[in-house]
Amino acid sequence: AQLDDEVKTHYYHPDQREQSKRQLQLKNDLYYASDYQEFELFYQPIVDVREERLYGFESLLRWKHPSYGYVSPTEFIPIAEQSGRIVQIGYWVMEKACQQLKLWEDSGLEAVVSVNISYRQIIEEDFVERVKTIINHCGCHRHHLVFELTENILMKDIALSNRVLNELKAIGIRISVDDFGIGYSSLSYIKKFPIDILKIDRAFVRNLDEETNDLAIIRAIVEMSRSLNLRVVIEGVETEAQLKLLKQLRCQLIQGYLFSKPLPPKEVVKQIAGIQQH
Ligand code: C2E
Ligand code: CA
Ligand code: CA
Ligand code: CA
Repeated sequence: AQLDDEVKTHYYHPDQREQSKRQLQLKNDLYYASDYQEFELFYQPIVDVREERLYGFESLLRWKHPSYGYVSPTEFIPIAEQSGRIVQIGYWVMEKACQQLKLWEDSGLEAVVSVNISYRQIIEEDFVERVKTIINHCGCHRHHLVFELTENILMKDIALSNRVLNELKAIGIRISVDDFGIGYSSLSYIKKFPIDILKIDRAFVRNLDEETNDLAIIRAIVEMSRSLNLRVVIEGVETEAQLKLLKQLRCQLIQGYLFSKPLPPKEVVKQIAGIQQH
């Protein structure tokens, strides 16, 4: 089976044959995995740097393969999307995230939890119904849940995305546009969707210290978001220098290694204490 170009270039390996053997193996193992023992859901804090408090967590999937060890989601998610397995995995992720959210709610922690969603998931006819069932089953608050979808997903079938997003909004789930700025970036379309949050891709933050262009782009997005009443999350913030520049642009929600890497729930909570004093 053919993988898309992005995956091929990203995971190009000197030994192409070994690489495709690995991909086939991963595809099989993902497909036939009957339970989720090898999976774990990690969480990375999103910090409100203006109010100096926690805003929420992004949930990020981890797979510990019995023979390959930890496999990156950038490698196995595209494989799972291609085989369709992402649909089942996605429901598992959602269930786990909602259970964790409920635990945090009960412990008095005020935070949203965001879940990454693939295109294959939203085209399932009973997607929204199953989401409702999971939320009811876990007993978490709907308005503490954020779904992250890339702009590429939204643009694939505009009518379908719009319908699904409106149904999710009607339940109370917030919508975040992931990797914003590297796809179509058509703001006229973004305006048509019921969106709450834009997540600016790490690509714009990476060289923030040297490049003024990226700074101008972020400034423009932040200003536009204000007039459209959207929240902006900047991801991939690693240094104090980047944070300082972003604060000058009045960026409020920040995610990145500077605050914490994605971690298991108990460990990430320990990190938050540090965040409040940052
Ligand atoms: P994403 O949604 O754009 O997630 C952000 C990625 O950036 C994560 O990589 C995170 O660990 C990484 N990151 C966060 N802060 C920093 C930083 O300061 N520096 C650097 N260098 N990286 C940072 P991760 O966990 O490897 O996930 C990669 C991608 O895999 C995600 O990109 C998302 O597209 C996908 N993914 C992960 N979990 C799930 C899931 O449960 N479902 C679906 N459909 N996709 C998922
Ligand atoms: Ca994401
Ligand atoms: Ca992202
Ligand atoms: Ca991404």
